[in-house]
Amino acid sequence: LYVEHPLGQGQSVDLTREQAHYLFGVMRLSVGGQVALFNGQDGEWLAEVAEAGKRGGVLACLKQTKPLQMPPDLWLLFAPIKKARTDFIVEKAAEMGAARIMPVKTEFTNSERIRQDRLQAHAVEAAEQCGGTFVPEVTDLQRLSHVLDTWPDGRQLMFCDEAEVGSALRLAASEKNQPWAILIGPEGGFSDVERARLTGLPFAHVVSLGPRILRADTAAVAALTLWQQALGD
Ligand code: SAM
Repeated sequence: LYVEHPLGQGQSVDLTREQAHYLFGVMRLSVGGQVALFNGQDGEWLAEVAEAGKRGGVLACLKQTKPLQMPPDLWLLFAPIKKARTDFIVEKAAEMGAARIMPVKTEFTNSERIRQDRLQAHAVEAAEQCGGTFVPEVTDLQRLSHVLDTWPDGRQLMFCDEAEVGSALRLAASEKNQPWAILIGPEGGFSDVERARLTGLPFAHVVSLGPRILRADTAAVAALTLWQQALGD
């Protein structure tokens, strides 16, 4: 269970109404029952129900069962598409261990607005579901041009472009230890101006995901897999 509360020896955790409903109503736990907790910072903790009520309750932390497992320093930048497919991208990126998920607005991005809080909640659920101890941050929608203008030194970019034929991820040894980002475009792809800028960036690596044009959500999963295979752990 994800809680927004510090976890540690002797720590007690107050439950919200929703969490109490889930633990005592859905999971049928009662006083003395045990549950695994994480907050994205303190690893996983085994906790015991100390008080159980309809509108709340209290858990007592017993012992740490997993240390915090930080994912590799990987960002996924993607142009938001239809709601359900955007949700899918966030969920899969969190499952596959992206450290930061960044919706970006490109020239042909279909979706002008996102609900960052909803997407962050999807990332929490995905981390919960796959037994992770870390929750990736989902940032608010930003312009791709702004993100590129303020790009941090040393971070490499895997620019996925269907116009690129057959180019795989080829890396110099020095680039393997750098932080990375993956960029996936919108349904309409990148404009010529964007493509020209992206291919000219010294930190960008243009990559093909195969000879067929993949939907953006498929491309995100394929790119994360390719990156994991080449560089992940
Ligand atoms: N521009 C295309 C069109 O309208 O025909 C489609 C763009 S595709 C649906 C969405 C994004 O997925 C692209 O911008 C790219 O980042 C990624 N993508 C899809 N297929 C790809 C491939 N074979 N290689 C690399 N990237 C791909």
